[in-house]
Amino acid sequence: MKINLATTGGFCFGVRRAIAIALATAKSGAQVEMLGDIVHNEDVVRQMNAAGIRTIQRLRRGENKILLIRAHGASQEVFDKAAKRGYTIVDATCPKVRRIYKLAEVSKHEGCEVVIIGDKNHDEVRGIVGQLKGNALVIDNPKRMPLKRIKQISKACVVVQSTQNLDMTMDILARLKQHIKSLTFYNTICKPTRIKQQEIKTMPLKNDVMIIIGSRTSANTRRLYEIARSLNKRSHWIQSRGELKAGWFRGAQSVGVMAGASTPDATTRDVIDRIRSF
Ligand code: SF4
Repeated sequence: MKINLATTGGFCFGVRRAIAIALATAKSGAQVEMLGDIVHNEDVVRQMNAAGIRTIQRLRRGENKILLIRAHGASQEVFDKAAKRGYTIVDATCPKVRRIYKLAEVSKHEGCEVVIIGDKNHDEVRGIVGQLKGNALVIDNPKRMPLKRIKQISKACVVVQSTQNLDMTMDILARLKQHIKSLTFYNTICKPTRIKQQEIKTMPLKNDVMIIIGSRTSANTRRLYEIARSLNKRSHWIQSRGELKAGWFRGAQSVGVMAGASTPDATTRDVIDRIRSF
């Protein structure tokens, strides 16, 4: 059985950068806390915790502590609150995500109704909505568009969660254009996401089985899996080698392996070794 590893799989530069910032900050000897997970991957979070970085869910007293802002960013309110509590802030927000926050903010100031194409519950989208003090419309599905509200919008600026599915985004955009006269679209899907989505559109057609590796909490991995599955029913989403099942590969001549943007190379190597053993 041939194993074909995606050329675009694994850490994107934003995740690599956030991890490097976190580890360098931990080395400084200060007490470091991160609000939520630095990236959506349990192995990476474990690595961070082992380096002495604590994961917190709520801000505490921040004197003599460093607060690490994760790759998905945080709203200005979080920055302000943390500073008030005495934290020193180290910002590991991906520059691509920071640009979306900025665009949304500027659009709002220019009198636009900000529309975000993205998952309502994803940290990045929540952060952008928080930044706009809740004044944004989030759309996550072309089949569930709040038409009544959309029809009331005269001027819209549309931004996209960095890891959204491009095809679905264009579908939502086309529907928005039917109802909103003045619409400015910022395609803020980041380049690493785009090239991964490009590759995942062909891999499932060229391989008998597809394995997508990444955390259940990783939005970009979910997207890769959804695309793969729509093209090849023998697509499986796993977090680590332990979830692989020998039966998946029965009769297969080739297997394609793709890893999400927050999946460490070591996890992918482990998975490939296990597939070889079948
Ligand atoms: S997926 Fe894109 S936006 Fe997210 S961290 Fe990576 S480069 Fe940045």
